[in-house]
Amino acid sequence: MDCVSIYSGVSFMIKNRHNLSNETGDNSGGKMLGTCKLCTLTKDLQESHLMPRALYRMARGSGANGNQDPHVLTAKVRKPTSHQIKDYVLCRDCEQRFSTNGEDYVMRLVTKRNGQFPLLDILKAKATPLRGKKWTAYTTAQTPDLDRSKIAYFALSVFWRASIHTWEQESGEKQRIDLGKKYNEEIRRYLLVETPIPKNATLLVAACTDEESQKTFYVPEENEKVKDRSFGFLARGIFFLFRITRTPAPYQARLSMVNTPHQPISVWNCFEQGVWRLGDGR
Ligand SMILES: [Zn+2]
Repeated sequence: MDCVSIYSGVSFMIKNRHNLSNETGDNSGGKMLGTCKLCTLTKDLQESHLMPRALYRMARGSGANGNQDPHVLTAKVRKPTSHQIKDYVLCRDCEQRFSTNGEDYVMRLVTKRNGQFPLLDILKAKATPLRGKKWTAYTTAQTPDLDRSKIAYFALSVFWRASIHTWEQESGEKQRIDLGKKYNEEIRRYLLVETPIPKNATLLVAACTDEESQKTFYVPEENEKVKDRSFGFLARGIFFLFRITRTPAPYQARLSMVNTPHQPISVWNCFEQGVWRLGDGR
């Protein structure tokens, strides 16, 4: 497998302390009538998050000094921030659908504040013959207790959210990926549970063994290493690499957790190696 630093040497440690009182317990954002981008009905839209709110909650206070801001990263912005990327995009029913079908489950698998990492613990408790020099992988037969359909649903819901709406960073900078109109629609129907997962989708799911990745999350970005229109995001130790194409790279086809018979989930040091690199924004 190709191996190049995932993070291109960027430090991910949480450094600054900020007063977070202005973002706790404020649900006074109100409602806004509009077209829900998932079900396409005109409804009261909720303040939808690009990344699960739980990630911000878990990131806060996980540093050495307690109450620190989550370190949110994109290709162009890398700094501790309490800013949660959100906008009026989905109705309550669709938000609930996202929670129930994937997000609640995956948030139980990511690294906790105390450093416990349930997904990695579950995988490492099993033996597997699937291994390379720097990685191991676990099939669905070896780890039937992991609900891969929920993991896939969660991952696609995040990639889709990043693709169907232009989100805004604290700096005002725009945040968006482009899966293309055709695939946006295919994924939308999958997320509504009307169709199976698009057959051209590949999704690598890896539990990262390094502490940096376990304490960090970042929003979907295009792979700057090969620019093959693959997209990745990180959620406290779980790395997702998504590509939708008729011609996936061999490793993408082989290690995909979706549209493969064995549905592998990988384990590797995401800081040291990988198939992915964030842009450095320069
Ligand atoms: Zn809806």
